[in-house]
Amino acid sequence: MTANNHAQSTGCGRAQFRADVRLVHAPDRKRSGLQRGLRVVWLPDDVADFIWERGPDVLGSAFHAFLKEADMLAEDEHLSEASDRNAVFLSALCAGPRDLAGFQDTDFVIVGCGGLGSQIAVQLAALGAHNFFLVDGDRIDESNLNRLTWATRQDVGQLKTDRLASYLSSRFSATVLTLPEFATGSEAVRLIMAYARNPFLVLAGDNASLARQFLTAYHAFSAAFPPYLHVGYVGAHCIAGPLVARPDDACPFCNSAAEVANDSGFVAPSALANNALIAGFAVSQIAMERLTRRSILCGHRWLFDLRTGRAGLRSISKHPECKVCHP
Ligand SMILES: [Zn+2]
Repeated sequence: MTANNHAQSTGCGRAQFRADVRLVHAPDRKRSGLQRGLRVVWLPDDVADFIWERGPDVLGSAFHAFLKEADMLAEDEHLSEASDRNAVFLSALCAGPRDLAGFQDTDFVIVGCGGLGSQIAVQLAALGAHNFFLVDGDRIDESNLNRLTWATRQDVGQLKTDRLASYLSSRFSATVLTLPEFATGSEAVRLIMAYARNPFLVLAGDNASLARQFLTAYHAFSAAFPPYLHVGYVGAHCIAGPLVARPDDACPFCNSAAEVANDSGFVAPSALANNALIAGFAVSQIAMERLTRRSILCGHRWLFDLRTGRAGLRSISKHPECKVCHP
């Protein structure tokens, strides 16, 4: 098997307001202001609206310099507004020192590119992740269209990895490698390790037996294996975690999934709404781990019961005789 490369397209930027600059209106609506903190630059109402709509460069270099002097422009004037707002989100998520470059430069390896794995990839790309390695041998089926927002009826029969790679590349300028195979064992692990420089693995396949087989090979590959996060469903529960960053962390199979009582027979359906629930939680935890190298999901699993609406973190412990993480 080989990995395919999807080329990155580039975009250019222009000066942007800092993310915390706001357009405010005077009560009499005769003037409006650009406000940052306590400072307000007052302008005639229609002029302020015009600048807000067209950007800080619209009145020329002198006004640009004035706004820069007022500390209202983003430090990197080539940051897009979207990525600057992402920086605000990521800053709010993690207090203290953050490794933003570490997040952006991570190779996110998505094993399983169905509704859940692809949703996580899209959310990571929207947050500024640049590099992806997509692993899945499955093709798009008409019944998948309820949860693949990046696929259309014309894509039915195409490889999920190909269509998702095209979407990430064209929509987010991401660099994407694809491995259109089911990740079953040591050969897939070897290829992932060969192509990914700085990998973080998201394990989002819906086949527990394949996941078990793959993780056994993953743990056996190296004692210093890259971190990974396991996501999926058990019965009525949406699950994210554990996040395994070190060899002494419990793997998803250490105490099996038997901890989740499932006596009702209810199985969570794969729909956009509940995939997005898991993805949103998982992505916030992945971002925290990448930015700070710490995570509350180490040794824990997040469970959300779709029927009751109850969510919680459950502690899971390392099982000394686990066949998956003790090769
Ligand atoms: Zn284990």
